[in-house]
Amino acid sequence: MRILQLYPRDMNIYGDWGNVLSLSRRAQKHGYTTEIIDYNPEDEFPEDVDIVIGGGGQDSGQSVIQEDLHAIAPRLRRMAENGVPMLVICGLYQLFGHEFTTVDGEVLEGIGIFDARTVGGKQRLIGNIVLDTPEFGQVVGYENHSGLTYLGQGVQSLGTVTLGEGNNLDDDGEGARAHHVIGSYLHGSLLPKNPRITDYLIGEAARRRCGSFDPETIDDALAERAREVAASRPR
Ligand code: GLN
Repeated sequence: MRILQLYPRDMNIYGDWGNVLSLSRRAQKHGYTTEIIDYNPEDEFPEDVDIVIGGGGQDSGQSVIQEDLHAIAPRLRRMAENGVPMLVICGLYQLFGHEFTTVDGEVLEGIGIFDARTVGGKQRLIGNIVLDTPEFGQVVGYENHSGLTYLGQGVQSLGTVTLGEGNNLDDDGEGARAHHVIGSYLHGSLLPKNPRITDYLIGEAARRRCGSFDPETIDDALAERAREVAASRPR
């Protein structure tokens, strides 16, 4: 299973790297061999990728990778349309929308995989966050952003916030879904604490490559414990 990590040099904070390790380790437990491919600006874009994953970054990191992101955007869009599972967190989630307008008024054009727009806010939204999601049950993570994201009409969010803020201060949605792409503000990192999302990404990748997904039974007691602790912490 070939896991492509987008921009680990500039977009990789608050434990996002843990998502990649978790994805690779869990895929191995399900019986797959894995390869992690780092992609940074101006690298050669690899062929034959099974899962795409990317993290968050400062506004400055987003500026650094923006031009390159546009260069690879046609490929990413085609892959998304072809059902390649992807997870993008925070800064890359914002740039997978149409645009991110920073507090200073700089407009960072996104690549429009999500029908969503983000504007920089004056307040930072920081702390533990809990969602109810239709597909993955309760999802637990940690948010730290000032960007406020608004989804276009009819765009499905990842879930409904029960603790914390999520996409913005006006509605209780968090994250976005399109094809098999998940965008979310949840760092922390997300996947070790939420194995159902990890299995979703691995499952979609396996079905595309092998036609089916036959998961092993994995003991998730530690993940369960981590979720309980994080969810019970004050914001
Ligand atoms: N710079 C963006 C914001 O603050 C993204 C932050 C992040 O990726 N954590 O909204």
